[in-house]
Amino acid sequence: MDGNAGTSGTQGGGSRKRALKQKLESLASAGVSDLPKRRGAKPQPTIGKSVASAGRDAKAVHAPAAGTQSTVAGAAARIRSLDILREEVAACRLCEPLAKARTHTVFGVGPATARLCFLGEAPGADEDASGEPFVGRAGQLLTKIIESCTLSRDEVYILNVLKCRPPDNRRPLPEETANCRGYFEKQLEIIAPEFICCLGTTAAQALLQTDETIGELRKRWFSWKSSQVICTYHPSYLLRNPPAKRDVWDDMKLLMAKLGVQL
Ligand code: URA
Repeated sequence: MDGNAGTSGTQGGGSRKRALKQKLESLASAGVSDLPKRRGAKPQPTIGKSVASAGRDAKAVHAPAAGTQSTVAGAAARIRSLDILREEVAACRLCEPLAKARTHTVFGVGPATARLCFLGEAPGADEDASGEPFVGRAGQLLTKIIESCTLSRDEVYILNVLKCRPPDNRRPLPEETANCRGYFEKQLEIIAPEFICCLGTTAAQALLQTDETIGELRKRWFSWKSSQVICTYHPSYLLRNPPAKRDVWDDMKLLMAKLGVQL
C-alpha cells in the first residue's frame, strides 16, 4: 500500500485509524495494493505489469489489468455490490424446497477484483454446512488444481451456478438454474474477470446457454460479456475418473498461458 494513503497525524485518533486499517485490509483482500497519493490525484493502475509479464507474481493474478477499473473506489464499489447481492441471495426463496432445506446459501469466495473465476455447479453437504463453495472432497481437489497452477485459492474467485444445495446432490433442475441465473450472472458482471473457467457440464451449459456436452466444449475459447471462457471437467468427475486429470491439466495449461502464468 502507498504510505501516503492514510490520515495518521491528523486528529481523530484510534477509532479513525482502526476504521482506516479495516478498510485497507478489506481492499487488500480485494486485490487493491496501491492507492492514489492524494485526493484528486490521477488513479494509478493497481499493478503496472502487463498480463504477459505477470509470471508467477501472485498479486498480478487477482489484480485488474492496467486500464481496467482498478482504483480504490472501483474495488470498493465491487465489494459493496457483491455484499448487497449476497444479502439478496441469503433472503431468496425462489426455489422454496431448496430454501426450506438449506443451512446456508453459498454465495462465493475470493477477491472482488479477481482476474480468474471458477464456476461450479451447486453446493454439496459440506458447502451447505459451511456456506463456502468447494470445501468438500471435490473442493480439495479444486484447491490442488489451483495450486498446481502455482496460484493460491485466495487469489481466484470461486462460485456456483446454484446458491442452494439440491437434495441428494442431484443436478440442478432447469427452473432452479433459471431462478439463480440473475445471481450468478450479476456476480460475474460485478467482478468482470478476464477469465472464467466453467467446471463441468452444468456450469458450462448454464453460462454459455448451450446444449453442447463438456467434451465438445473443452479446448475452445468462448466470450461471455467482457470475459474469456474455458470449460473443463468438474473435480467430482475427476474423483470418479482419475485418468481425466490429464485432460484438466491440459486445459489449465491453456488457461495459464493466456493468464500469463508460467507453468
Ligand atoms: N461441487 C460444486 O459444483 N460446487 C461446490 O461448491 C461443491 C461441489
